[in-house]
Amino acid sequence: MILESKETTLAFRCPLCGQAILSGVNLFRITGDILRLRCPDCDTALTLNKTNDGKYRLSVPCMFCPKPHSYVLGEKNLFNEELFTLPCGLSGMDVLYIGKEDRVREALEESDRLLDSMLDEEEKEQLTALHRKGEDREGYDPGVEQVMRFLLCELEDEKKISCFCDGKEEIPLYDFQVLSERVRVFCHCCNAETYLPLRSEADAEDIVKIDKLELK
Ligand SMILES: [Zn+2]
Ligand SMILES: [Zn+2]
Ligand SMILES: [Zn+2]
Repeated sequence: MILESKETTLAFRCPLCGQAILSGVNLFRITGDILRLRCPDCDTALTLNKTNDGKYRLSVPCMFCPKPHSYVLGEKNLFNEELFTLPCGLSGMDVLYIGKEDRVREALEESDRLLDSMLDEEEKEQLTALHRKGEDREGYDPGVEQVMRFLLCELEDEKKISCFCDGKEEIPLYDFQVLSERVRVFCHCCNAETYLPLRSEADAEDIVKIDKLELK
């Protein structure tokens, strides 16, 4: 079910905080509307929309350039390749990653290492300070991630998640982060969010029973 509804993974690096922003994207939901993949901490976003001739137009923020880069891609690049990346013409660094989730994650890790070797100590500190801003997720149970994925897919299919995108020409893009004692469920597009407690087994069982989510 998860594989069916999350067709491909899209990722970019937020130019403001440096973190990789990644999300599964459902092919069938990209129609005339704009899909926005936003950094949860900054306001930068990758946007994607389908053109009249069936291609996909993307605008991707770049760490090295003041303006986002624009690309027009065919369906094949977006959905049929294991990994497809596009570089910034100025720096040569990849700014857009599309493909299978594990391949995209690998490519991002590689670019982490590359960036690491390019930045000086002070720049690195600035980036890691921002990275650490969120709560860490030490000691979390990886099973929770599977449960959350399944739950979100199910609720989404049944249209039981609401956010600020409702009624607008925007495509919501739901995702979650497992934090130390709670799970943050949010929409990449409008940044609406909600937190679910996750302190005990009982909390985890309650999460499975959720039949509606209101993000705000
Ligand atoms: Zn950011
Ligand atoms: Zn660039
Ligand atoms: Zn939304």
